[in-house]
Amino acid sequence: MWQGCSPRETRGRAAAAALAALLLVACGTLSIPQERKLGQEANREIRRQLKLLRDRVVHDYVAHLGANIVAGAGPQPFEYEFHVVEDDQINAFALPAGYVYVHTETILKARNVSELAGVMGHEVGHVARRHIAQNYNRQRNTGILHQVAVIGAGVAGGSAAAGAVNLLGGLAGVAYLNTFTREAEADADAFAVDVLPRAGYDPRGLVSFFDTLAREGGAGVPTFLSSHPAPKDRIQATSARIAAAQLPANLAVNDGGRLEIIQQRIRLLVGESGSSKQR
Ligand SMILES: [Zn+2]
Repeated sequence: MWQGCSPRETRGRAAAAALAALLLVACGTLSIPQERKLGQEANREIRRQLKLLRDRVVHDYVAHLGANIVAGAGPQPFEYEFHVVEDDQINAFALPAGYVYVHTETILKARNVSELAGVMGHEVGHVARRHIAQNYNRQRNTGILHQVAVIGAGVAGGSAAAGAVNLLGGLAGVAYLNTFTREAEADADAFAVDVLPRAGYDPRGLVSFFDTLAREGGAGVPTFLSSHPAPKDRIQATSARIAAAQLPANLAVNDGGRLEIIQQRIRLLVGESGSSKQR
């Protein structure tokens, strides 16, 4: 993900549901079917908590872009879904098993479709490269998982430890679902660079969106730059990978004004800030 890889409003219930599902898989590596189940549970909860932009035109645009990227990635074990969250923070995140969420502000701030494709390609990369399963194993080994699972079990059993759950729920959502190592972030970037050309998009949009993030970060956005300590390394590695690639001609940077129409539609729907409502 972009801004530390976590859904901003993940709180107790979503985490509890994810962790309850996690308890089912507390032994052994997270399998594909187990990740699917975890993803379904987490997705169900997160949809209750996030304010989705329920506009068919915008949704279809993003879903179509996502489907193109997935097609470029080749056969996948997961069925991907793409959704738009009404939120004025630049962000995007992926839940287990292919539920990808893009904030309206990310769409508004993309200067062309290749930038938006870069963000989405990165998120698809987290799913496709099984970074979430890696997190599962890593956290199981550190014992964090056990502590969090105990809290999750308490919630599932109707415990009234709401304060602790709210505290640890946010932590769990971040720590369990979407906190990736720097290596995983670099791997998701590499995935995007490799896959985007096969989907018809110019991978240089990924790098140029880093610039957008850097600019916006200066305006007080809680940023990607602060949560990823080596943005320059990331930009350099991504640029080097692109430079070494044999890019086909005529990769899409723009999409004939369609993104601009979608951006205008979002502004009309939610206001210039990207979000008209409280969160
Ligand atoms: Zn990421």
